[in-house]
Amino acid sequence: MYPIDKIKNDFPILSQKVHNHDYIYFDSAATTQKPQCVIDAIVYSYTHTNSNIHRGIHTLSRLSTDMYENARTIVQQFINAPKKEEVIFTKGATESINLVASSFGEIAIHEGDEIIISAMEHHSNLVPWQILCEKKQAKLRIIPFTDDGVLDMAVYRGLLSEKTKLVSIVHVSNTLGTINPIEEIIDIAHSYDVPVLVDGSQSIQHTPINVQKIGCDFFVFSGHKVYAPNGIGVLWAKEEYLEKMPPYQSGGDMIETVTLEKTTYNVLPFKFEAGTTNYVGAYALSVALEYLSEIGVARIAQHEHELMQYALQKITDMQHIQIIGTSLVKAGALSFMVDNAHPADIGMILDKQGIAIRTGTHCTEPIMQFYNIPGTVRISFGLYNSIEEIDYFLETIKKVIPMFNA
Ligand code: PMP
Repeated sequence: MYPIDKIKNDFPILSQKVHNHDYIYFDSAATTQKPQCVIDAIVYSYTHTNSNIHRGIHTLSRLSTDMYENARTIVQQFINAPKKEEVIFTKGATESINLVASSFGEIAIHEGDEIIISAMEHHSNLVPWQILCEKKQAKLRIIPFTDDGVLDMAVYRGLLSEKTKLVSIVHVSNTLGTINPIEEIIDIAHSYDVPVLVDGSQSIQHTPINVQKIGCDFFVFSGHKVYAPNGIGVLWAKEEYLEKMPPYQSGGDMIETVTLEKTTYNVLPFKFEAGTTNYVGAYALSVALEYLSEIGVARIAQHEHELMQYALQKITDMQHIQIIGTSLVKAGALSFMVDNAHPADIGMILDKQGIAIRTGTHCTEPIMQFYNIPGTVRISFGLYNSIEEIDYFLETIKKVIPMFNA
């Protein structure tokens, strides 16, 4: 049996009341709540081990460095990366994508080249490529999606050519919840020798990730979406690319030697970690990943799958609600519209009942333009959510609907 009560108790924020109601947190796609062990890890670091990494010979500096480098190993194992040196700590998925756009973009994208993304990307996996294409006079090609919120694979096949230099694609859509057929997308790209970046911001917390099995060339995610703190994230990339890519930022730690005339760069991964990194965040991220591994990521995925199937079934059966993105292969997030109601009004009413959901465009404005809607109501699940919470949410929303149809 999935230990839902124990798991819920691990997250202190969930035991509080909001507007005198039990707090129901259905906004994990925006950020996840933190278990006590992660909160304790941050307090422990600042209480016992805080010291800048890599530079000191004193005891705490060495301890702090060991915790940071051990965190890298834990990330490596969590995503089954072949080499620890391929794991780069960043401040989040957005920075990881910007790093690739800037550094890989510098050496690999030239005038007339093409980059393929999809129409369901988060702005973080869209705007950096737009800027790069503008700078390099390259072209951004877009894989459309169908009314169901499913990528049009036939169009994708047709977009690839010898001009294509990169495919950058979201694994799980933060708005539609669609799980994209990432392995198929990668196989097709590789048949043209085109590398693929996978935005795993919404998959890392919902499904076991094995970058070698997926076969991608770059994988990015944010710590705060996987029960770790803000300000820490990961770029994993194949060594063959990282070796060729120039540094993204420069300064301390990314150097090998510096003279007033010339600098040589440090080895991987340090070449891409300029300045004092968020070593406390990296340690806390490793504690979060170990917490998930202890419960079992496959077990969490199964629990969340059951939540999603239950919610989908119940909401599909309800009148006056239209699901946005009806793909049958979904994880994490479920978006919908309530007849005649602006999503923000639904969000405000649910908040008064202690239910935290998100409304708006979810940083995916092109999806809103496709469906011609101002935004959606989005519920999203984490490992701490339960069927009872979905039932309470459904009861509440049933009472809300008539207010807008009076
Ligand atoms: N991609 C996706 C699919 C996301 O959901 C998010 C966050 N909502 C991001 C990228 C960006 O993540 P961050 O803001 O943590 O860098």
